[in-house]
Amino acid sequence: ELILAIETSCDETSAAVIEKGDTILSNVVSSQIESHKRFGGVVPEVASRHHVEQITLIIEEAMSDANVGFEDLSAVAVTEGPGLVGALLVGVHAAKAIAFAHQLPLIGVHHIAGHIYANQLVKELQYPLLTLVVSGGHTELVYMESEGQFEIIGETRDDAVGEAYDKVARTLGLPYPGGPHIDRLAAEGERAVELPRAWLEPDSYDFSFSGLKSAVINTVHNEKQKGREVNPANVARGFQESVIDVLVTKTKRATENYPVKQLLLAGGVAANSGLRNELETTFSDSEVELIIPPLSLCTDNAAMIGAAASLKFRRQQFSDYALNGNPGLDLESQ
Ligand code: ATP
Ligand code: MG
Ligand code: FE
Repeated sequence: ELILAIETSCDETSAAVIEKGDTILSNVVSSQIESHKRFGGVVPEVASRHHVEQITLIIEEAMSDANVGFEDLSAVAVTEGPGLVGALLVGVHAAKAIAFAHQLPLIGVHHIAGHIYANQLVKELQYPLLTLVVSGGHTELVYMESEGQFEIIGETRDDAVGEAYDKVARTLGLPYPGGPHIDRLAAEGERAVELPRAWLEPDSYDFSFSGLKSAVINTVHNEKQKGREVNPANVARGFQESVIDVLVTKTKRATENYPVKQLLLAGGVAANSGLRNELETTFSDSEVELIIPPLSLCTDNAAMIGAAASLKFRRQQFSDYALNGNPGLDLESQ
């Protein structure tokens, strides 16, 4: 079983060849960050144009890195949604063209299912399991009783955690994307600025980060008005501590209330060193096995889409040529 996978949901153009859902033969990622930096965020039109320019080259490179031909493939998989519609369409059209030309089955994949299944490239998954999804657009606790079954037990009510990182970074005058900069700065902070934690209702697994984000903006603004400069490292540390405290505490409680064998970390914010360390400490002598993918599999990539597509291939859950980019694709109905 060899799957060519394509991912173009946001600002990475990526193609990968995956064998049997767990082995990476190639994973080529072309990031557009440099083009979006001066706008302080991803500009949809710029993203689509870059994908159009890159997609053919990236697919060719993934095929040649893997040393396979189109006739060797079992299927073509592509991110169907969520994401930017114009960006998604570039990948979807490329996948359809290859599927049609080489008479291959076509598989539409949910982007977040991809982030979750990135862990299958690291370790054999054992169900039931729980995933903490932390990315630029999502913050979710996803319970999977069995393979391919997604239940969102908690999610953010406002900002995604990556979004909060990027906005706080902007307030501190750091470049886009701000997550890695805040992460680095937080480690330099000697005294964390005290910031609130949004616990919500006692039994809720939901999250909220907009209050924290506003608290950071107010703190920086108030100090300025008093003619003082805040220490950015202390603000970064306070912000990061608040985020991690809430994420890890709620995740821990969920692993105690659901019969999970494994806890997976997924999404771009999984690259956060503070979060990785805190999860490792918290679960070091737990019955629950913690899996954290390497950084290259946390941020957007096509290998994770190939991993998620493998189950759909085995179950013959194929898409037809009506497949379209779907920004609102639902995870639980996958
Ligand atoms: P989604 O997956 O929800 O559609 P996305 O694909 O844009 O969103 P990802 O590419 O998975 O998001 O993750 C990007 C986010 O990860 C950005 O917000 C970025 O700031 C954040 N990020 C990356 N590295 C770190 C880090 N070390 N610490 C905190 N955040 C980080
Ligand atoms: Mg991205
Ligand atoms: Fe993503």
